[in-house]
Amino acid sequence: MFDVVALGESLIDFTPNGTNEQGMQLFACNPGGAPANVLAMNAKLGGRTAFIGMVGDDAFGAFLQKTMEEAGIDVQGLRKTRDYPTTLAFVQLTPEGDRSFSFYRKPGADVMLTAAEVDPALLQNCRVFHFGSVSLTDEPSRTATLEAARAAKRAGALISYDPNYRPLLWDSPAHAKEELSAALPLADLIKVSEEEMVLLTGETQLEAGAAALSAHGAALVLVTLGPKGAYYRAQTGSGLLPAFDVDTVDTTGAGDAFLGALLFCLSGKTRAEIEAVSQADWQRIVAFANAAGSLTTAAKGAIPAMPTHEQIDACLL
Ligand code: ADP
Repeated sequence: MFDVVALGESLIDFTPNGTNEQGMQLFACNPGGAPANVLAMNAKLGGRTAFIGMVGDDAFGAFLQKTMEEAGIDVQGLRKTRDYPTTLAFVQLTPEGDRSFSFYRKPGADVMLTAAEVDPALLQNCRVFHFGSVSLTDEPSRTATLEAARAAKRAGALISYDPNYRPLLWDSPAHAKEELSAALPLADLIKVSEEEMVLLTGETQLEAGAAALSAHGAALVLVTLGPKGAYYRAQTGSGLLPAFDVDTVDTTGAGDAFLGALLFCLSGKTRAEIEAVSQADWQRIVAFANAAGSLTTAAKGAIPAMPTHEQIDACLL
């Protein structure tokens, strides 16, 4: 039995890394994809995890598989295709220092995962099934994602959903809102950023926005707020817990570390047990997740920056 099975995109993030002796831009090849990041954090804390997705049968796909294996993630559900390349994203810094993305995904292998390629045994043998929205942008991965979530739910898994909105991957915010919202009723746990909360609910206040998301049926709603921490809304109450003061160098993967750590704290709990978690326990759990997120911002990259259990405990002292 796996603690968490996640389905979604696995891709390469090329990030600017200085210039060569001829002054040409260099890029560092980083493993990317939020669902696998969530698993990496959970596995680092001791969770049993497995990934479902598709990469190209190429050097980048092999690199992504190796990265997951080294993070302790089971890759029996990772498919490789010769027909499409591993998806790539290039990050560039604008003259103002802002990050801009160019995606090479028309299509990339991650989008081409079909429902028939998802191993049903993984969906029947997980306590938590997690998915995001990058696999909801196009077919066939949209249907594969939603059918997998429904099958896992039928088999008794808790469903975790991070509607991680990436504007460049959608033709319009309205279309994104429609597809992202359609998956909300499946979720027992929803994690959003403040921007995503506003997009999905039209509410700008945390209490009202989280309440609107809960109305779709989730037992727990989390709104992560970057350096301001995270807001939770559970059955027994709600509250805002602060982030931790660290020397932030790169926020990549902070939200995924937050969620991976939070799911670790809920390991083995049924929906009824999650509904009964006390306010005091939620405060401890969300503080633990905040510490995981904050510590992940103190080093470059997502998976390489994720803290150990001991580092999180030390941060909480
Ligand atoms: P996402 O990556 O999903 O947008 P956030 O950026 O909100 O998520 O980060 C998730 C969590 O990581 C936050 O709730 C917070 O606990 C921590 N975190 C993020 N950015 C910082 C920061 N600059 N300083 C300290 N903690 C941070």
